[in-house]
Amino acid sequence: MMTEQEVKQLLIDTEAILEGHFLLTSGLHSPMYVEKFNVLQHPKYTETLCKELAERFRDQQVELVIGPMTGGILLAHEVGKALGTRAIFTEREKGVMTLRRGFKIEPGTRVLIVEDIVTTGGSVQEVVNVVNNSGGEIVGVGLLVNRSGGKAEFGVPMDKVQALLNLEVPTYQPDACPLCQAGTPMTERGSKHIK
Ligand SMILES: [Zn+2]
Repeated sequence: MMTEQEVKQLLIDTEAILEGHFLLTSGLHSPMYVEKFNVLQHPKYTETLCKELAERFRDQQVELVIGPMTGGILLAHEVGKALGTRAIFTEREKGVMTLRRGFKIEPGTRVLIVEDIVTTGGSVQEVVNVVNNSGGEIVGVGLLVNRSGGKAEFGVPMDKVQALLNLEVPTYQPDACPLCQAGTPMTERGSKHIK
């Protein structure tokens, strides 16, 4: 079993978690930036994390794994592979999260929902709605990273929710940013290639 610290270290090593002094699109400053595809671009690490996620739900008799486009597709595939189940994904059609491509959830199917990083939980809530509307039975929600500070709720009991990593991402107003006050230059985000 991987500890949260081991998961965090893998994300740091692959630069999925970047540390420095970042200007966010919101205008806020942060000592941390999360770029999930920096880890998901490595199939072997995605597999490692998804096997770990799968183990957390091994005894739940999962019959179907589902995740939201885009990262959720990779996760559902790898978790489904580890559990020996079908794996499908939701996507938005005219802004509404839905099942396309002939994907079906039969009523009573035991469904595990997976997602990479949860900030507000909005996408997961939409997948929950899709599964509930199909009559599927949600047996769990598996997350790589929950950065909501425990605030995200999806209409699923919290004892069914598992995150490999709970991550606090501090943000500061520019005029109250301790990194600015320390004179730390802004971090340039370029792409480095990690093996
Ligand atoms: Zn700053």
